[in-house]
Amino acid sequence: MNHSRYGLGGPRDAELCGVCGGDGRLENAWGQVAKCPSCHGSGRRQEDTGFHDVTKTKPAHHQQSNRAPVVEKQVWPGTPAGDLLAKEVRDASGLSADTKARLTREIIEHEATHGQCTKTFLKKIRKQFRPAT
Ligand SMILES: [Zn+2]
Repeated sequence: MNHSRYGLGGPRDAELCGVCGGDGRLENAWGQVAKCPSCHGSGRRQEDTGFHDVTKTKPAHHQQSNRAPVVEKQVWPGTPAGDLLAKEVRDASGLSADTKARLTREIIEHEATHGQCTKTFLKKIRKQFRPAT
């Protein structure tokens, strides 16, 4: 028969999470069970990257946000309003290809900044190819 061996005291102990003891869970005084914040429930000791105090501010993470974001170059607006406006720009007869490209890029950039196309912005862009009546 294949009895599982007792590995306590063996080399595996070195991999066990020191916070939860390998359970992956922590139980507080009220009996609530929560996922271990140190090993995230795996019960394994995480690779020590030098930053052990995860509860404090994370300078490494903060630095990343200062770097140029690695975003795929967007060529078309992602919001419904932006999509509609970009189509209007594309189909506008009095615009040069350059202007169309510039306006489309403006829409994309506006979306990136504001998360959507504001009504004021839509108006502003439309004015450039469709004179107000
Ligand atoms: Zn743990």
